[in-house]
Amino acid sequence: MIIDGYEWRSAIITQIILETPRIKTFRLSFSEPYSFIAGQYCLMRMKLNDGFEAIRQYSFSSAPASGNIDITVARQPGGEISNWLHDYAGVGTHLEISTAYGSVFQWKPELNKSLLLIGGGVGMTPLISIIREHHLSGSNVPVATACSVKTEQDIPFKGELGIHTRNKTISFTFTQKTPANWKKLPKRFDSEALRPLINKDQIVYICGSGVFVSNITETLYKLGVMSDQIMSERFS
Ligand SMILES: Cc1cc2nc3c(=O)[nH]c(=O)nc-3n(C[C@H](O)[C@H](O)[C@H](O)COP(=O)(O)OP(=O)(O)OC[C@H]3O[C@@H](n4cnc5c(N)ncnc54)[C@H](O)[C@@H]3O)c2cc1C
Repeated sequence: MIIDGYEWRSAIITQIILETPRIKTFRLSFSEPYSFIAGQYCLMRMKLNDGFEAIRQYSFSSAPASGNIDITVARQPGGEISNWLHDYAGVGTHLEISTAYGSVFQWKPELNKSLLLIGGGVGMTPLISIIREHHLSGSNVPVATACSVKTEQDIPFKGELGIHTRNKTISFTFTQKTPANWKKLPKRFDSEALRPLINKDQIVYICGSGVFVSNITETLYKLGVMSDQIMSERFS
């Protein structure tokens, strides 16, 4: 159904996965065929108690090739929709979801360039979709991932991010509290941390809060990464 220029679909939650104490994944099922590309997002539309309508964007975290349609949502302090999803949505809850959006921030296996994926917190959501799609497609392009979180317990998709294979590497930074055996102090990603991960032939995907994306982009420019190598998605 097309309303307000958006094309809406009816979805039902079929599974909820607790990723971290404040991040949940919601697996969706649609009665009509639904397609998306790794990196893309959808809109969610909700009628609020006061009669107003709220629309929020959520990136897909599953790989299109998996057949699953997952969104992953972080609880925002004071946030209307994220807290409703965490506290009240359950298996069987109906949601109104748009068709997929995002014409630039997306990855297909045909894009035969090495990847650097840099995410802040729940900003890992579209990046894990890319990592999963990369794995399922059998792509051999190297993937380096850099994940920034406040503490170890905030790492989303930990089991999959931690897997090292021949063509995948992962770096973490902890901005508030480091794990017990971590030799570095809490810090943000800086030139020193990102320099070893970059090369001139790769595409860089950055996702997180607006401040995170701006800081990382600025650091990459200083390291000589060109603007046409960078794709970014801001969650705020
Ligand atoms: C392209 C895109 C993709 C995204 N993908 C994801 C994703 O995959 N996962 C995810 O978790 N998020 C994602 N987001 C963010 C998401 O769309 C929402 O913004 C987020 O869930 C917060 O929505 P909310 O309704 O919970 O919070 P809101 O109710 O919108 O509140 C947001 C913040 O503003 C504060 N606030 C609200 N009203 C006021 C006020 N009157 N005065 C002062 N402060 C106020 C709240 O306390 C809260 O901290 C994405 C955003 C974009 C643009």
